[in-house]
Amino acid sequence: MTRSYDLIVIGAGMAGVSAANKCASQGWNVAIVDALPYGGTCALRGCDPKKILRRGAEIIDSARLMRGKGIDDEGLSLNWTDLMKHKHGFTDPVPRNMEGSLAGNGIDTLHGLARFTDKTSIEIDGTPYHATHFLIATGARPRPLEFPGHEHLVDSTDFLDLEILPPRIMFVGGGFISFEFAHISARAGSAPVIVDRGARPLKAFDPDLVELLITRGTGVGIELQRSTTITAIEQTPTGYQVSVERSGQAESREFDLIVHGAGRTPDLSSLDLDAAGVAWDERGVHVAAHLQSTTNPAVYAAGDSANTPGMPLTPVAVFEGKVAASNMLKRITAVPDYAGVPTAVFTIPELARVGMLEQEARDEGIDLDVRYSDTSGWYSNYRIGETTAAAKILIDRSSDRIVGAHLLGPEYGELINFLALAMKLDLTTRQLKSMTTAYPTVGSDLGSML
Ligand SMILES: Cc1cc2nc3c(=O)[nH]c(=O)nc-3n(C[C@H](O)[C@H](O)[C@H](O)COP(=O)(O)OP(=O)(O)OC[C@H]3O[C@@H](n4cnc5c(N)ncnc54)[C@H](O)[C@@H]3O)c2cc1C
Repeated sequence: MTRSYDLIVIGAGMAGVSAANKCASQGWNVAIVDALPYGGTCALRGCDPKKILRRGAEIIDSARLMRGKGIDDEGLSLNWTDLMKHKHGFTDPVPRNMEGSLAGNGIDTLHGLARFTDKTSIEIDGTPYHATHFLIATGARPRPLEFPGHEHLVDSTDFLDLEILPPRIMFVGGGFISFEFAHISARAGSAPVIVDRGARPLKAFDPDLVELLITRGTGVGIELQRSTTITAIEQTPTGYQVSVERSGQAESREFDLIVHGAGRTPDLSSLDLDAAGVAWDERGVHVAAHLQSTTNPAVYAAGDSANTPGMPLTPVAVFEGKVAASNMLKRITAVPDYAGVPTAVFTIPELARVGMLEQEARDEGIDLDVRYSDTSGWYSNYRIGETTAAAKILIDRSSDRIVGAHLLGPEYGELINFLALAMKLDLTTRQLKSMTTAYPTVGSDLGSML
């Protein structure tokens, strides 16, 4: 007999789990399914493991910055095997704990690859299930690449599980994954090269701060090749020969490892969405602003797999999952609030953003006051020996409100949260400046940035 539910959630990552718990807490009969161990990308293959590995790299970098300032870093090294064990200490228990917590909330936890068979039915490894509502929360996967030899690339999941970090690593694509992993690798003793086909990497971030970050990266041995296209990769007895083209010139070089950092795309191909009459494309499931499928009212989508105005980030997946759940439960059409969502690239130091880019604000015709500070000489950075740090705050002169904020510096991934809160609560810079912060903290630098 086909089992029937009020809601089946496909994908046990942040979006799916938030929605499943919310609906179950309101008495709905809920099942959730994942083809992989429970936990999703962020906890198992993304944000959390990455930042554990970064911690090792941070310590190496911090010690080097204090060389001659009271710290002797000679002989200090990163033990990749032990750092990886430290990572596993966090990630390994996640699936069992998460599944246990869902089951404790009365949710049926299923395993396998789900695919639709009609508008209100799915099949999981041959077993049929029916539901009145579905949430597609299947996340994203690395974008397919076309050049010959692309099958030799490893992806971000493989990188975060490497038993040995080899010396010669190429990162394909100038996005946040390549930059973060290159910054870790450089401090772990490898020689990373980032290849980007465009002239400007990290396009979603402030170009002035990105250039500073690139210079800082060069100083620790990260090579960036811009406007460079990979033409082929061939396996050799000693590694992989990568052929590239730059300004019409062909070049070739050997690496031990080539990592895909060239973007991610919604993971929808296994779902047979056409069988359910769910419209979709390579940007995700087509949903209305309240996250319901535009073509099948039984289906909602949230997180990286949905085509929404939200960035593919964990906090966005969480709040979209909750809004979708609430809309299904209450039969309403509430729209997620995407204002003031901050994002950070966890390089060393980190690069962070909330709100508009300077160019976007100018294109909108905002009467802009750009407050740029080179903060490298400020007390907080002098104290730790950091040489590269800056802030660019974009203020609408007419309202005294922040329309965008861009930060590059140690702990600025925390500092950006203040600016995000100010934007979310619609505070003026005058109100924000009136905040008293503990001194001396990085937060106490905020007033001077405004
Ligand atoms: C290396 C890396 C680093 C990142 N760092 C950050 C960061 O620092 N901060 C941040 O905010 N975001 C970060 N992200 C992005 C963040 O991880 C995602 O935005 C977030 O995890 C998306 O959550 P989700 O619930 O939409 O999907 P996911 O967490 O990806 O979950 C989707 C789940 O669906 C399952 N699934 C897919 N298809 C099927 C099917 N047919 N049947 C059954 N199950 C299926 C998958 O197995 C997966 O477990 C990072 C991503 C990566 C890859």
